[in-house]
Amino acid sequence: MSISYWLDESKTNSKNFDAVIIGAGIAGLSTAYWLEKKDPTLNIAIVDKHSLGFGASGRNAGFITCGSAEHFNKLNQQFGFEKAIEIWKFSEQNRELLKSEIMQDDVSTVDYLSTGSCTVAASENDWTRYHTIFADMQRAKIDVELIDEKYLASQYGVRNFQGAIQYKHDGVIHPVKLLKKIKSRLNKTTFLLGEEVFSVKSENGSSLVRTQHHQLNAKKVFVCLNGFASMLLPELKNHVKPQRGQIVVTEALPAFVKGPCYLTKHLCYFRQLPTGELLVGGFRNHDIEAENTALDETTDKIQKALTEFTQSYFQSTTNVKINYRWSGIMGFTNDGQMIIGAHPSKQGVYLMAGCSGHGMGLSFNSARVMVENSYGAQLPSHFDIKRIQF
Ligand SMILES: Cc1cc2nc3c(=O)[nH]c(=O)nc-3n(C[C@H](O)[C@H](O)[C@H](O)COP(=O)(O)OP(=O)(O)OC[C@H]3O[C@@H](n4cnc5c(N)ncnc54)[C@H](O)[C@@H]3O)c2cc1C
Repeated sequence: MSISYWLDESKTNSKNFDAVIIGAGIAGLSTAYWLEKKDPTLNIAIVDKHSLGFGASGRNAGFITCGSAEHFNKLNQQFGFEKAIEIWKFSEQNRELLKSEIMQDDVSTVDYLSTGSCTVAASENDWTRYHTIFADMQRAKIDVELIDEKYLASQYGVRNFQGAIQYKHDGVIHPVKLLKKIKSRLNKTTFLLGEEVFSVKSENGSSLVRTQHHQLNAKKVFVCLNGFASMLLPELKNHVKPQRGQIVVTEALPAFVKGPCYLTKHLCYFRQLPTGELLVGGFRNHDIEAENTALDETTDKIQKALTEFTQSYFQSTTNVKINYRWSGIMGFTNDGQMIIGAHPSKQGVYLMAGCSGHGMGLSFNSARVMVENSYGAQLPSHFDIKRIQF
């Protein structure tokens, strides 16, 4: 966004904060949470151009996930066995921290269910490969089991799959209820919603965040924009790329899908909501060029693929009605790992971006390490912004 001389009212409306967070999604709210926990005296503001969770955080599938078994395999090939375990454990820690810090004994108010998750094999070839991945995951002491075609049909209501790897500890949640729950834990944070940030500058040891209506002076600024980060910070353009994801949700059906599933062949995932609706997302790879965008709109091609899958892969969904169709914007990095840390040239500005489709499974813990980093602690090397050449 650009702002004209005539519209700019920021100079006459200046406010001071210890920390300003840009973005009111899971990343921004989690950052506020950890900042308040680190120092309860801090005066914090969160600015968002829309409302709480209006980005991907309010548009996702609600898997509190470590990722699919294929994801573990990819990490193993890309980073080696020990690092793959470290990355997986980071997401396990994310889930446990969400439980202990935010949900506590009150999982029902965010519709959290500990269901496990399944990565289903779409062909004989995959099924053979999955036996090797399963053995690797067991060797990594990840709590997995192999399940067969019959179990898949009876517990997940799907047909024509060979079997699956089930990871026992993933969970599902209502993402917006989770955001509201994190917000309810904040005591010292001011929300400036409906205000788009159009510039972030650093001058004389302080940072300046400008919206049309406010100039916000802060000692530290945290940019939590994920897929939208490069629109505010164009230097991230080659490093955090927006990609769209699309979802459909059906009318309510009798319960038949035990937990969330991944069918990675179509980058597809599905779950049944506690109220019975079937949620199906993915198929980005069916129109990959068009989906490389930050434009939030559904398309006929992906929606058709999602509808056909929904009506043909499950038992008794042939004529099921689709009640919701939506899209959201994710941020992908070149190596699939988040970029976290101090901005290379704007002093006092920190950022986290590029959740690469796993922000609900990462961001609470990632915000913790970003906040610690802003107080001098080291980052896990795979996240560290220093690995990026600007
Ligand atoms: C369809 C879909 C399904 C997904 N399913 C899952 C899942 O099941 N599990 C999982 O782990 N992850 C999933 N993800 C990914 C996950 O939702 C994201 O990684 C995560 O929500 C990113 O959170 P965030 O807070 O970093 O960014 P966002 O939630 O995108 O928040 C960014 C915020 O910044 C605001 N903003 C943008 N520009 C500006 C500006 N200039 N000034 C002020 N505000 C601005 C936006 O309004 C937005 O609220 C999915 C994503 C999509 C799209």
